[in-house]
Amino acid sequence: MNINENYLNLEQSYLFSTVAKKVSEFSNNNPDKKIIKLGIGDVTLPLCKVVVDALHKAVDEMGAQATFRGYGPEQGYDFLREAVKGYYKKHNVELNLDEIFISDGAKSDLGNILDLFAKDNVVLVPDPVYPVYVDTNVMAGRKVVFADANGDNEFLPLPDENVKADIIYICSPNNPTGAVYNKEQLKKWVDYAKSMNAIILFDAAYECFISDENLPKSIYEIEGAKDCAIEFCSLSKTAGFTGTRCGYTVVPENLGKLNKFWLRRQTTKFNGVPYIVQRGAEAVFSEAGQKEIKENINYYKENAKLISDTLTKCGIWHVGGKHSPYIWLKCPNNMTSWEFFDFLLEKIQVVGTPGSGFGKNGEGYFRLTSFGSKENTAEAMKRFESIFNK
Ligand code: PLP
Repeated sequence: MNINENYLNLEQSYLFSTVAKKVSEFSNNNPDKKIIKLGIGDVTLPLCKVVVDALHKAVDEMGAQATFRGYGPEQGYDFLREAVKGYYKKHNVELNLDEIFISDGAKSDLGNILDLFAKDNVVLVPDPVYPVYVDTNVMAGRKVVFADANGDNEFLPLPDENVKADIIYICSPNNPTGAVYNKEQLKKWVDYAKSMNAIILFDAAYECFISDENLPKSIYEIEGAKDCAIEFCSLSKTAGFTGTRCGYTVVPENLGKLNKFWLRRQTTKFNGVPYIVQRGAEAVFSEAGQKEIKENINYYKENAKLISDTLTKCGIWHVGGKHSPYIWLKCPNNMTSWEFFDFLLEKIQVVGTPGSGFGKNGEGYFRLTSFGSKENTAEAMKRFESIFNK
C-alpha cells in the first residue's frame, strides 16, 4: 500500500483556528468587553418561509406510502433542473437540462470535477483566493501557478499570454476580495482559455450579490464560454443553504467528453441530493422565493455598504462590498494582516480575517464580511470611526 503523499505538501491552514484561539484568549482576559465578529463567511439569517414550507411539505411526502421516494436521479430531479434552467434564462443564458447537475454545494463539485482531468495539467489560480482550488490540486499532485491579484489590478488579474495553463480558476465575485469581473475582462479570460485549449472553472457562488445588470452573473453571458468553461454555483449564500446543502454545476454539451464523463462520474460516485432539500431549493427559484431571498441579500448588502462607506470616510483603501458580501481593505499604517487583526481586537474588539490566510498577495490586507447583524455591523463601524476618523 502506498499512501497519497501529496497530502504532505498541503500547507497547514491555521487561519480560522488561530483567529478562534486569539479571540477566545482575549475574551477570557477581558470578560467585560463585547467582541463583534465580522470574520466568518457564513450566513446568519434563517431560511425564508417559502423554502421552509416546501421542506415541510416534502417531509410529509416522504412519510406517506403514496408519495415516498427512494433513490433519485444522480444529476438531480427534473423539477429543480428546470428551475435552474429558468433562472439562467433570466440573464439570457440558454441551457439544456443535460448540462445542469444538482450538487450538495459548490465546494464538493469544485473538488470532484478534478476527477475528469489528467494529473499533468498545469493549474492557474488567482492569489489571493478561496483556498479550496489550490488544496484540491495539491492533493492530486498537480502543478499550480498563480495569477497575481493586487492593488495595481484592483484584485482582478487578467491573463498573461506568457503563462501556459490547462485549468484556470476564476471566482467572481471573488472570495476574499469581493472584486467582480466585467464582461470585457471575462472575455479576455475566455479568449485566453480557448487559445490555450484550456478549461475555465468558474465559481459563481456569490453571483446573487451582483446588482449591476451590466456585470456578468454567469460566465456563459460571455460569447464562446460554453466552449471552454464549467460553472459552479450554490444556494449557500444565495438562500442561506450553508447548512442545508444544495448547489448546481453546469457542464456544457459543447465540452463534449467532459459533459459525458461528468455524468458518468456522478452516476458512479454520487447518489444525489436529498429529495426534501431539492424541493426546498426549487422554492428558492419560485417568484415568492426570489422575492424573499432578495430581502435577505439586501440586508447583507446594506451592511456591506455601511462598512464600505465607513472605510471611505476613514480613508482606508478597499475593494468589494458593492456586489459582494466581502470587503477587502488595505491595513492602515502598513500593518501586516495579523498585526491589524491584533490591533482591531485590542483597540475596538472587532474581529475580521487576515488577508494573508488567502495567499501571499493577501499580506497587508484584511477581509470584513457583511453577514453579521445590522446592529453589530453598525456598532463595529462606529468603533472603526472612533479610531480612524477622529
Ligand atoms: N466557493 C466560494 C468562493 C466560497 O467562498 C464558498 C464558501 O464559502 C464555496 C464555494 C462553497 O460553497 P458551498 O457552501 O456551496 O459548498
